Formats: sequence, structure tokens, C-alpha cells
Amino acid sequence: MATDQTYCYHCRTHHPRNEMRLIVTKTGKRWRCIRSIEATRQGAAAREAYGRQISEINKAESKSRAQRLNNLLQEK
Ligand SMILES: [Zn+2]
Repeated sequence: MATDQTYCYHCRTHHPRNEMRLIVTKTGKRWRCIRSIEATRQGAAAREAYGRQISEINKAESKSRAQRLNNLLQEK
């Protein structure tokens, strides 16, 4: 083994230790790669927007599901 590989709980894979940070979570200390930490930091706003988009889709979907159900009931 050339480098010290450590399990990254975020990516569920192994990275070189020097690309990782030990962070404290609810379940204890865990190693996570710097790349994913940076991505999360930068993506916080984007993820928020994504979450809003998903909840809009869910709303629209449950509405159309209700409409489909109505149509089915009316066909009988
Ligand atoms: Zn990682």
C-alpha cells in the first residue's frame, strides 16, 4: 500500500488520509474528505434550492395523483 487510506463516511469509500479531516458527528468522530466538505459548503444554497424544487414537484405530483384518482372514480 502506497498511501494511508481511510474510510470516508460521506463517500462510503477510501481516500488518502492527507485529503481528509476528522470531524465530530452525533455518532462520534469520523473521517470525511476535504473535497466533500468543501462541496457541501459551496452547495448549501444550491441544495436549499433543490429541496424547494423537490417539494414543489411532490406537491404537484400529489395533486395530479388526486386528479387521476378522481378521474378513475368518475369513469365508473
Ligand atoms: Zn470522501
